[in-house]
Amino acid sequence: MTIDFLKKELSNILSKKRYDHSIRVLETALTLGKIYDGDLNKISTAALLHDYAKEFKREDLIKIAKEHFLSETEDYLENIEILHSYASAYIAKEIFKITDTEILSAIKYHTTGRKNMSLTEKIVYIADAIEPKRDYPHVEKIRDLALVNLNKAILLEVNKKIEYLVKGEFIIHINSIEMRNWLLKIS
Ligand code: FE
Ligand code: FE
Repeated sequence: MTIDFLKKELSNILSKKRYDHSIRVLETALTLGKIYDGDLNKISTAALLHDYAKEFKREDLIKIAKEHFLSETEDYLENIEILHSYASAYIAKEIFKITDTEILSAIKYHTTGRKNMSLTEKIVYIADAIEPKRDYPHVEKIRDLALVNLNKAILLEVNKKIEYLVKGEFIIHINSIEMRNWLLKIS
């Protein structure tokens, strides 16, 4: 499956805004993939498909989560922001017939992260958070850090994200907390 084919499929399903975001994530992920000697094929595929289901209807996201990822999503079914990652991974597997677990995990955990992430997972996760149009406090610092120390960049990103979630009294996915604790230990 070529990158051009995936781009075409994406442009058919996503709004221009979301499509452009996906392309920026692809480009950012490729930059990081070259720096860290990642598998550029896996990185490209995951980066392109990570938000495939972002604009799915709420009930469809909940249906996919319940039917295919219940144990992982049952505490988060109200939280569409988390569910679109699972639905995108489901589409990658069922529609695009992707079987590579690293690609599927990079899509599935791009919102929450998780402990013990592979290089591909880390790159897609942080590329999504730092693509050039992202604008939030400390993003510049996270962007700079990502070029020299991926783990520290993700740690800073998740620390800031957790602070934001706590302040807003939003739910924090357990995977994000586990990822943070893991990164604290290894970085
Ligand atoms: Fe997303
Ligand atoms: Fe995204």
